[in-house]
Amino acid sequence: MAVEPFDVVDLIRAKRDHGELSTPQIDWLIDAYTRGYVADEQMAAMAMAIFLNGMERREIKDLTLAMIASGETMNFDGLGKVTTDKHSTGGVGDKITLPLAPLVASFGVAVPQLSGRGLGHTGGTLDKLESIPGWQASISNERMQAILRDVGAVVCAAGSGLAPADGKLYALRDITGTVECIPLIASSIMSKKIAEGTGALVLDVKFGSGAFIKDQAVSRRLAETMVQLGADAGVATTALLTDMSVPLGLTIGNALEVRESVEVLAGGGPADIVELTVALAREMLALAGLPDADVEGHVANGRAMDSWRAMIAAQGGDPDGALPVAPETHVVTAPRSGVLATQEALPFGIAAWRLGAGRARKQDPVIHSAGIELHAKPGDAVVEGQPLFTLHAEQAERFERALESLEGAWSIADTAAARGPLVADRITAG
Ligand code: URA
Repeated sequence: MAVEPFDVVDLIRAKRDHGELSTPQIDWLIDAYTRGYVADEQMAAMAMAIFLNGMERREIKDLTLAMIASGETMNFDGLGKVTTDKHSTGGVGDKITLPLAPLVASFGVAVPQLSGRGLGHTGGTLDKLESIPGWQASISNERMQAILRDVGAVVCAAGSGLAPADGKLYALRDITGTVECIPLIASSIMSKKIAEGTGALVLDVKFGSGAFIKDQAVSRRLAETMVQLGADAGVATTALLTDMSVPLGLTIGNALEVRESVEVLAGGGPADIVELTVALAREMLALAGLPDADVEGHVANGRAMDSWRAMIAAQGGDPDGALPVAPETHVVTAPRSGVLATQEALPFGIAAWRLGAGRARKQDPVIHSAGIELHAKPGDAVVEGQPLFTLHAEQAERFERALESLEGAWSIADTAAARGPLVADRITAG
């Protein structure tokens, strides 16, 4: 039996007592955890020690590199195209990947989007695309390379071979109260994105009620940490810090969000979705060496839409297929005239989840037709009796609990407070 170079209890004690772990210690810890030598309860204690006492920048980098080394990495060098990807920390109504990936691909840049499924109130990109008849999330590596070469954009399920240490650690953090921790989040996200082999990366790091991290200053620290990790690994990385206090766009829920994304690609759609799609596309294209790309022009001349249709068809989907429609709807109307003053993202996300749009457990299915359609956004004038939002569900019995979560989540007043910009800041490597 091989002799282990460290004792995990010593490492846990060191972190517990505010010490720093060396590079060989972190490499060994992640390797030993991946092979099962370090037990879940020991890693849980380590995660809590990191949660409470933090990590130095060098330790976060080592942790990220060790998690990448725990599995395979992808390589797109043979593609003959520049690759660039986007990662969002997740929000309510965040369907930006759907119009963004084909838009960027329409410039001849490859966009390999390895995405996940939603858990809790934030939806997953794969769940949204699976509302399209025939569309398949699982494709082989060879097929992925072929689609990237021929079409340019792929959105598919990340295989378990990429950063498996993160898969194991993230599941453990989820059940031990150690998720909301910058060193652990940054290394988790960046290990997967770097292992995916993208040449450049744009991060959409959100703050506000519907975001994973609510506080803008904490979100900024997370963005700065991830941008630095990308730079250290040779992946050109930029982050936009964006407001997630109000749902993005006018739809929440899988098929509803696909419909809205297609509207954006057709040149319409809500202003905030268009603004964020264009801002992220500009960043991705700048990192890909096309800083002057005419992003809006590719929407107006239909090239982004052509790219979407090709991307959906390449994964078995029918871009003209009918999207599922919920049999039951419930409309909430304005009790008075005035201005829609508030619309809190988190309760709307929870309501859509209770309608069936999201899952409570990994193994649960989502109901593609379920969700919420918003008819007004904060700042819009409303008149008494006008529809404010419509709930969509398969069973009318779901409305009561969804409406409960919306109590106090919106308000009408004589005036609405001015909102800050959607894109609050841009963070690049220092
Ligand atoms: N998403 C991830 O992939 N990892 C985290 O730790 C948090 C969000």
